[in-house]
Amino acid sequence: MNEWNPDKSANLYGISYWGADYFSVDTDGQVCAIAKPNGTEHHVPLTDIMSGLEERGHAMPVLLRIENILDRRISQINQGFAKAISQVGYQGEYRGVFPIKVNQQCHVIEEITKFGRQYHHGLEAGSKAELIIAMSHLEDREACIVCNGYKDSEFIQLGLHAVQLGMKCFFVVETPSEIGIIIEQSRNMGIEPLIGVRVKLSSKVEGHWFEDSGDRSLFGLSAIQLVDVIDQLKTANMLHCLQLMHCHIGSQIPNIRNIRSGVQEACRYYIDMINEGAPLGYMDLGGGLAVDYTGASTNETHSKNYSLDEYCVDIVETLSEALSAHDISHPTIITESGRATVAYSSVLLFNVLDVSHFKAKNLPDSLPEGCSEFTENIWDSLQRLSPSNIQEICNDAVHYREELRRMFRQGLVGLREMSLNESIYLEILQRAKVLLPTLRRIPPELQNLDESLADIYYGNFSLFQSLPDAWAIDQIFPVMPVHRLNEEPKNQAVIADITCDSDGKIDLFTSGDGESRMIPLHDVNEGEEYYLGVFLVGAYQETLGDLHNLFGDTNVVSVRIDEQGKLEYVEEIEGDSIGDVLSYVEYNPKEMFELFRIQAEAAVKAGTISVGQRRAMLNTFRTSLAGYTYFEREE
Ligand SMILES: *Cc1c(COP(=O)(O)O)cnc(C)c1O
Repeated sequence: MNEWNPDKSANLYGISYWGADYFSVDTDGQVCAIAKPNGTEHHVPLTDIMSGLEERGHAMPVLLRIENILDRRISQINQGFAKAISQVGYQGEYRGVFPIKVNQQCHVIEEITKFGRQYHHGLEAGSKAELIIAMSHLEDREACIVCNGYKDSEFIQLGLHAVQLGMKCFFVVETPSEIGIIIEQSRNMGIEPLIGVRVKLSSKVEGHWFEDSGDRSLFGLSAIQLVDVIDQLKTANMLHCLQLMHCHIGSQIPNIRNIRSGVQEACRYYIDMINEGAPLGYMDLGGGLAVDYTGASTNETHSKNYSLDEYCVDIVETLSEALSAHDISHPTIITESGRATVAYSSVLLFNVLDVSHFKAKNLPDSLPEGCSEFTENIWDSLQRLSPSNIQEICNDAVHYREELRRMFRQGLVGLREMSLNESIYLEILQRAKVLLPTLRRIPPELQNLDESLADIYYGNFSLFQSLPDAWAIDQIFPVMPVHRLNEEPKNQAVIADITCDSDGKIDLFTSGDGESRMIPLHDVNEGEEYYLGVFLVGAYQETLGDLHNLFGDTNVVSVRIDEQGKLEYVEEIEGDSIGDVLSYVEYNPKEMFELFRIQAEAAVKAGTISVGQRRAMLNTFRTSLAGYTYFEREE
C-alpha cells in the first residue's frame, strides 16, 4: 500500500497532464516517448534512446528531437481545423504556416515542409534570411508563404520572384511606408504582388505577451494607416492585389475568450475592407495557440484553458457567424502556430554532476573541550529543540552562528570550530524542518525553511544556451528524472547549471498540484549517472541562446520511431567545440595554439620543462580546442 510506484511519480511530476499524448511513464519507472507511426502506438524509453546515443559517441547534454511527435502535432492542427470546418459547415479551407523564427533549424524546417505537404502546410518569414529558407525549401505550390516584418526593396524583389515561380507568397504590410516600395518594385519587375495588411487590433490579451496587442503594440496598421494604405492601392490601381488580412494578438494566449474576441474584431475589419472593394479571400489569424507547460489547464500564463479542438471550433464558428451575417464568402483560414507545433518534440537531456546538501557533517556525540561560549550555546540549543520552542531555538541559532562568524573574522576562533558551529546550525534547521508539520500554525519566519535547505543539483547544461526563456522571462518548462521513477524521490532540490552564475538555475517547477519552488529528486548513486530531462523545449529556445561562459550549442540528435517500434537516428549534429565558440567571439584557435606553443618552446629553451612535457601539454591544449564545451566524463 505504501510502496512507491511509477504512477505515483507520474502524478508527482504531472507528466500525464503536460505530457498528455506525447510522454508516459512505464512500469520500469522510465519516461517514454509516445509514437504512433501509421496508427500503431509505441512507448519508447528515453533511456533506450540515450544508450544508443552513448554507443554513437554523443556525450551529454543532448537536445533530443523526436520527429514522430513533430509530425503528429502538424497532423493534429490540420485535422483539428478540418474537423471544425466540416462540423460548422464552413465554406473555406485551412492553410497552416509555420513561423520560421520559432525554430529555424534546417532539419526542423525540412521535416515540417516534407511531412506538412499532405496538408499544404506553409511557412511564415519575418526577414530576408527566413524568406530565403522558405523559397528554397517549400516546393508545394498550394502552400502559402507569409512575409511579415520590415521589408526593404531586396526583400520585395525576392518575394516577387517567388510569385513569378507560382508560389503563394504574400507581403503583409506592417507599416505605411512599405506599400510604396511594393508598388514600385512590382511595377519595375512587371509582377503582380499578393498583398496582405496587418491590422492592429484593440482586443487586449492576458499573458506574457499582452503588449503585442492594443494601441501601443509595435506592429500592425492603425485604422488611420489602414485607410491610407487602401487609398494608395486604389490610386495605383492595385486594390485587387489586396488578398489577405493579418492579425496576431500575441503568443501563448492562455484564455480562449481572448482568442474569440480577437477573431470577432478581425471580422469587422475584414467586412469593411471587402466593402471598400478589396477582394481578400485569406484571413490570417497569426500565432498564439498556447502550450500547457504546467499541465494545469487554467488561464495562467504558462497554461491554457482550452483544447486544440476548442481553439479550431471557436475560430471557425466565429468567422462563419460574423461573415455569413453579411453575406460574405468564407475566406481561407491561415494560422501561424509556432509554439504549439514544435514545443513538444524536443527534450533537453543532461546528467547531474554533483549535489550540495545543506546538512550537518561529522557531528560529534559531545562537544570537544575548549569551544567558545557561542558554540556551547548553539550546542545547548540543539539539545533543547522541541515542538514547543522551534521558533525561539531557530532565532537563537542564527544569533550564535552570527557571533561565531564575527569571532572568526577577528581571528578569535579557527576554521575547524566555525565548521563545527555551522554543522550544529544546519542540524537544528534540519530537525526543525521535520518538526514543523506537527505545528498547528507555522511561524511566518519559518515558512520558507524548506526552500532554504533545498539541495542543489548541478546539471551538465547551460541555462543561457539551452533554456534562455527560463532565464529571461521566467518561463516554466516541465523538468523530471527520466528514469528511477519506481523509487521515491526523497530530496527537495533546485537545479543549478554548469555556468556557476547565480542566475543559472531552475527554481520554478510544475508539480502535480501547481507550481513549486523545488523539485523532488533521487539520491545520486555512486558510480551511476542520474539523468534529468527538460521537456517541451522545441519552441524559441534553440537559437536565442547565448554563449554565457562560452558554453556552446549542445549535441542535437533527431530520432524517428518506425512501425515496429525500432529507433532510427535520423540526424546527429555535433555541438560546438571550444575552438568553435572561441571563433564566435573573434579569436583564432590556430593562432591561440601558436601563441601557447611559443610559450612552451621558450620554457624548453629555458630548461624549466622537458621536450616530453612540452609535447604532453601541447597535446592537451589541442585536444581541448577540439573538445566539447560541456563537462566530459573520463572515458
Ligand atoms: C512569433 C509570431 C508567431 C508565432 O506565435 P506562436 O505563439 O509561437 O504560435 C506567429 N506570427 C507572428 C507574426 C509572430 O510574430
